[in-house]
Amino acid sequence: MNDGIKSSFVNGAFVEPRGDEQILENLNPSDPRDVVDRFARADAQLTDVAVEAASTAAPAWAASNPQLRADVLDRIGSEILQRREELARLLAREEGKVVREALGEVDRAGRSFKFYAQEALRASGEKYDSVRPGVSIETSRQPVGVVGIISPWNFPIAIPAWKIAPALCFGNCVVFKPAELVPSSAWALAEIISRSGLPAGVFNMLIGPGRSVGDALMRHPKVQAISFTGSEQTGRQIAAIAVERMARVQLEMGGKNPLIVLDDADLEVALDVAIQGSFFSTGQRCTASSRLIVTEGIYPEFVARLVERTRALRVGDALDPATDIGPVVDEKQLEVDLDYIRAGLAEGAILACGGERLVREGGGHYLEPALFLDVKPEMRIYREEIFGPVLSVLKVRNYEEALAAAEDTPFGLSAGIVTTSLKYAEHFKRNSSAGMVMVNLPTAGVDYHVPFGGNRGSSYGPREQGTHAREFFTKVKTSYQSS
Ligand code: NAD
Repeated sequence: MNDGIKSSFVNGAFVEPRGDEQILENLNPSDPRDVVDRFARADAQLTDVAVEAASTAAPAWAASNPQLRADVLDRIGSEILQRREELARLLAREEGKVVREALGEVDRAGRSFKFYAQEALRASGEKYDSVRPGVSIETSRQPVGVVGIISPWNFPIAIPAWKIAPALCFGNCVVFKPAELVPSSAWALAEIISRSGLPAGVFNMLIGPGRSVGDALMRHPKVQAISFTGSEQTGRQIAAIAVERMARVQLEMGGKNPLIVLDDADLEVALDVAIQGSFFSTGQRCTASSRLIVTEGIYPEFVARLVERTRALRVGDALDPATDIGPVVDEKQLEVDLDYIRAGLAEGAILACGGERLVREGGGHYLEPALFLDVKPEMRIYREEIFGPVLSVLKVRNYEEALAAAEDTPFGLSAGIVTTSLKYAEHFKRNSSAGMVMVNLPTAGVDYHVPFGGNRGSSYGPREQGTHAREFFTKVKTSYQSS
């Protein structure tokens, strides 16, 4: 490393910067005067070197002893969990979620590695009787080869972990490109992985822009599978590239997740679930509840209390333990949020509270959580993913109207309902077309050992996480044998 400048990890070593690379500065969104790290940016040429290294390492890693894979993954998970405080502070500093939430994210990353350490040892083949006498049939799971992994900025360590761990577990080699807004957590993860006992080339990380490095990675003929999480727009581009060259592809994209509050809801539960799901992590979660659909009986009291609770949220530095909601990730996203707030007002919604930029010493990207009432289903704030602390509330007459409103979206990631009625809870679980359904729980916040993913514009390809990750990260082979 040159003058504290960090770099990509390729073929078993951190790349020595040449000195002529573009420098990426990772700035703290709570106080952009604080430079978290500086990075030498990778380019398309280094992407090629990384993919070649992964491709060379692939046959031996595919044939590796599962105990070796289990031990490596377990070591990575253990170190992440041991260093949770330090990694959480780094994550909070570069992304802006509060330390309490960052700790949860780091734990999730560590536990994902530990889960896949065990998964490496689980049996995966099947035997069948043949319809032909004297013939036996077996199916086995084989690694896909080189996997390109592209992640967004809002979960800087958990999303990389839940993609990298299963990829390595099932014998694939990895070329990973994190989002440029959050390279420091990715670098810390790569550094931990670099000491875990993996052969050179099995894991590579490229810090660089999506339009050059990400694009080169997606198009590389030796990348056999692509696992992407990010915006729908980028996802669509990647899908087109992948299908054109027949690479396997898995996309996790946007959301506009509904939370229904019924007349029979426990009011305190409904308020907690709404506040947490909508505003925590500054609303920057693909599973955030950005549409609240409330039946008319509970509406007046619920909304009055919701305004009170929203006003009481403390917005501030992510590292300050008194903060409930950290900054927006950067100036560009803050402008997007403010544009939507202006659009909501122009379309006639009532801004009940918040929505103002907060000016603080240090120039952080702070925004008061915004709560819109009198929202109509055709308004942009209600239909489009904003990805910020902006919540739209729609009033409906009854459960049937609420369900129809919840379903009226091009997305389908997560959907929630707050009710004390078993009948409505069961009906909603059966009839919501979201990939994940929550009853009396926030739409955001999921376990690490079960499938994650959505439908329609939110997800494409096999589910992530848990044992279901096997579907994407392995190929099935059917073998016949005559005795
Ligand atoms: P983004 O699409 O801008 O970027 C995601 C990643 O793709 C980044 O690493 C970026 O560098 C890379 N990229 C950009 N252009 C590329 C290209 N042409 N080729 C290859 N790679 C390219 O998304 P973002 O702003 O980082 O993340 C926010 C989005 O992510 C939101 O829409 C959110 O809903 C979504 N998200 C979804 C999930 C989920 O699991 N469904 C989870 C978290 C975030």
